[in-house]
Amino acid sequence: MGLKDLCVSFYTQKCQHACSFCILPTRSSRLPVPLKSITRQIDWMFNRYKDEIETFQQLSVGNEGSILDEKRFYPDAMNYLVKRAQAMTRLKVLSLETRPEYLKKRLLEEMVRKTNADIVDTTVGFETQDDRIRNAILGKNMQRSLLEEKIRLLGRLGVRLTSYVMLKPGPLMTEEEGIREALATVDYLQAHCQRAHTALVIYLSPTYIARGSPLAGVMRRVGYRPPKIQSVLKTIIEITRRGIAVYTGLWCENLAEDKGDFSGRDDYDPRIRNVVKEFNKTQDFSLVEPYKENIEETVRDDARSKASH
Ligand code: SF4
Repeated sequence: MGLKDLCVSFYTQKCQHACSFCILPTRSSRLPVPLKSITRQIDWMFNRYKDEIETFQQLSVGNEGSILDEKRFYPDAMNYLVKRAQAMTRLKVLSLETRPEYLKKRLLEEMVRKTNADIVDTTVGFETQDDRIRNAILGKNMQRSLLEEKIRLLGRLGVRLTSYVMLKPGPLMTEEEGIREALATVDYLQAHCQRAHTALVIYLSPTYIARGSPLAGVMRRVGYRPPKIQSVLKTIIEITRRGIAVYTGLWCENLAEDKGDFSGRDDYDPRIRNVVKEFNKTQDFSLVEPYKENIEETVRDDARSKASH
């Protein structure tokens, strides 16, 4: 979103959760990764980028799970990371990817105190406001009450929330239902963040079929089609109209099965992807607005074909 971002994923012990749509834990270690190895990774990163380290404005940190899980990314590793990040003299945002369970007052207060970044951001995967889809289908095991409590905590501490919001998260959804659900999730998050005075960013995730995930089999059986890139654009337009900053994930990191993401659809238009990519960087509404009318039509078409089927 206009900032030069150093985005890093550390190799640690795998996430202990087993969400049905996610295969990130397969890329992590089954065993605990010692502190020494993690500090070596931190050193590697700062050495690799030493010549441009002062030019980064954002540091986004994850571990294919929850970077604030102290059993996997130890407090000493975090302290070391934050200390080395002092070399990033233009740092505006320190972004930490985590489940809400790990958002603890003491930890966040410490982070706000120690970092040289202007904004501490925590990025959580709430995905969808539909409790049945989120917990029974996606297997997130994440309750609204917990998220709402953490939103209030973030508001008190002045920490920003970024939330992943899945586009078309339900295996049986049409394009229009998928967009409606994403917007309902955005509205839910916006209402709670406004009440708590918590700054909010939406990270829109066009759902993809993750190769080998438990949900992939279900999606195949019911003939799930990933959302269109046109639907991504339409959703961005609606979120922007609500006055919320939105960033879209356009790369599935080779985790999708063949034709398992928007780029594998017959109606995929790479020009629209480029527009979204540019919008990610600039948040310039004039880039996306001209597409509005055509997009309405393509999205409706898909709903009609499903209805006749
Ligand atoms: S979605 Fe997040 S919490 Fe769930 S398994 Fe994947 S990394 Fe873990």
